[in-house]
Amino acid sequence: MNISICPLSSGSSGNAVLLRSENCAILVDCGITGKAAENELAHAGISPENIDAIIVTHEHIDHISGVGVMCRRYKIPVYATLGTWKSMINSLGKIDPALIRYIAAEVPFEIKGTKFHPFSTSHDAAESIGLVFSKGDKYGALATDLGTVSKHIFELLLPCTIAMIEANHDEKMLMAGPYPQHLKERILSDHGHLSNRLCGALCAKLVREGNLRQIMLGHLSTDNNTPRRAYEAVKCSIESAGFSVGDEISLFVAERYCVSEELIY
Ligand SMILES: [Zn+2]
Ligand SMILES: [Zn+2]
Repeated sequence: MNISICPLSSGSSGNAVLLRSENCAILVDCGITGKAAENELAHAGISPENIDAIIVTHEHIDHISGVGVMCRRYKIPVYATLGTWKSMINSLGKIDPALIRYIAAEVPFEIKGTKFHPFSTSHDAAESIGLVFSKGDKYGALATDLGTVSKHIFELLLPCTIAMIEANHDEKMLMAGPYPQHLKERILSDHGHLSNRLCGALCAKLVREGNLRQIMLGHLSTDNNTPRRAYEAVKCSIESAGFSVGDEISLFVAERYCVSEELIY
């Protein structure tokens, strides 16, 4: 049986990712409208009625704008940490209490036989998480809005063969770009986002020391990055580590507004 990761939309305009394994389909975040989510799910070949849960990583609007609608329309349970629930509840509209699920970082949980291990990220949100998920001996990860990568996060990512990882910005583009200084500093800080360079270093290390073989770069900044720059930076790091991209390692960049390539293992 396979596990898969399929981004439906990625970037500051809205994030939503479909994770699938045997009998189980999960939407991680829904920062696009209900209509857009329905369309993209249709393109990914699944009906919203078959989504088992929505897991919310954190309360930023690019991750939650469609969560309330999808939850109400299709009666989908929503999983999030207590801090995320507190911060987002007023933005979701009315939610049936029976559909509210609490999760906590470092407390693994299961949905229909697929295991999820949420881990804390240092992103500037109330209680943000990333996710490792597994079915049998197959592991995948969703690691965006990271801020920084601790040793603990690195170790959790080691067994993952497929992963979506943040390549938010090109440091030179960010520094030369139009953002005010305080915003530049926030993005570059440990509470912001991973740059192409840091993403490349992380991917190279995971390829060399772990099982990573299929990589989806995601959450690219519109103003401070281009898909080409992100791809080239990470490709270069992986090749410097002695692996060939395209051959041994598959590397993709998530589409901003539509369904991307699906990583399947
Ligand atoms: Zn965020
Ligand atoms: Zn985000």
